[in-house]
Amino acid sequence: MRRKLAAGNWKMNGTAAALDELAALAEATREARAEVLICPPATLLSRAADRLSASHVTLGGQDCHAATSGAHTGDVSAEMLRDAGASAVILGHSERRADHGETDAEVRAKAEAATAAGLTAVICVGETLEDRENGKTLDVVRSQLDGSLPDGSTGDTVVVAYEPVWAIGTGKVPTVAQIAEVHNDLRNSLIQRFGGETANAIRLLYGGSVKASNADDIFAVAHVDGALVGGASLKAADFAPITAAL
Ligand code: 13P
Repeated sequence: MRRKLAAGNWKMNGTAAALDELAALAEATREARAEVLICPPATLLSRAADRLSASHVTLGGQDCHAATSGAHTGDVSAEMLRDAGASAVILGHSERRADHGETDAEVRAKAEAATAAGLTAVICVGETLEDRENGKTLDVVRSQLDGSLPDGSTGDTVVVAYEPVWAIGTGKVPTVAQIAEVHNDLRNSLIQRFGGETANAIRLLYGGSVKASNADDIFAVAHVDGALVGGASLKAADFAPITAAL
């Protein structure tokens, strides 16, 4: 019932030269059963959309402002992302929470703007190593989920990505039992808040050092509906096998 999702977050990587790799990635994932979403830097979005116009690959932004327009130098609105060819936007990534001090309330306001513009919000949650060592993982993730998801969220308007901060870009991956515990808890929290039918339509991604060699094990975990992939989404040869594992 939930279509699997292989999402790539290119972060602050890629200039025009990367468009060839993106085209190669589209070609290499042509047979994928899963939805394939790539979130390049905003500067590449419209050129990526032109290049992939006939492809199955969908595109997303990596952040948006909560306002629709106005005096916000350097920011990009959800509508602008949509206009540039995006159908989704990553919100509340831990790098934005850390680098820009984004709060749950801000992420939620951005998610509301994304929904209003017709974008699916890929909302990120995840504990730090300190949280985990202090036994606070579920408390932290629950409170981020509660605070960051808009009321009225549905399987069309939001995707939730569980990304333990300590697993991002480190090569460290939680055990399948640890992933299962968090994903199960996320699903239950969604059921409590939105009811079973809506909650069961919301996709839950795992993110943090996903690569071809660990994808099978991670994707076998209950309530893992796909992945949000950083480093391994930059090259078609790395991303295609992850997509094929879904
Ligand atoms: P890595 O796959 O490079 O660990 O990054 C994960 C991530 O932050 C995706 O949003």
